[in-house]
Amino acid sequence: MDYNTQDIERLREAIKLSASFLSSPNHLDGGPFGAVIYQADTCIAKGWNHVLSAPDATAHAEVTAIREACKNLQTFDLSGCVLYSSCEPCPMCLMAAKWANISRIFFAATREDAAAIGFRDDELYKLLKDGVYATPIEECSSEAAEVMSQWYSSYASTAYY
Ligand SMILES: [Zn+2]
Repeated sequence: MDYNTQDIERLREAIKLSASFLSSPNHLDGGPFGAVIYQADTCIAKGWNHVLSAPDATAHAEVTAIREACKNLQTFDLSGCVLYSSCEPCPMCLMAAKWANISRIFFAATREDAAAIGFRDDELYKLLKDGVYATPIEECSSEAAEVMSQWYSSYASTAYY
């Protein structure tokens, strides 16, 4: 087994947060999803979905928790941290966790469970696999790349982004 009873307890905290919509003033902050992030024995961030109340399409539980963790630790690098999510992260949240260097992710309900209550995570995963969502405009490619190389030669550090 790749997890222990402590992981299960922490995952249950995320599940508890997934029910936050019940105590929100209008009972509808967003979808029923919650997440917590731990650094060693400390819970450094909690989040739940508030896409509707924000309103913010990216205000998923995991992204909200990642933003709070980065703010609390004053770094974008969450190496060594563990993310617990009440549901399998959507592609955006999964990659946000990857960008933040989160070391491990545990989840409870699956993308199929999310699909059963009307969320399209499974569809998004398929879209990601096909890789046809974004269209490059070649006429602008070198202009944007020029800004990037200017940044690289002047400001890039040794950090791995
Ligand atoms: Zn998400």
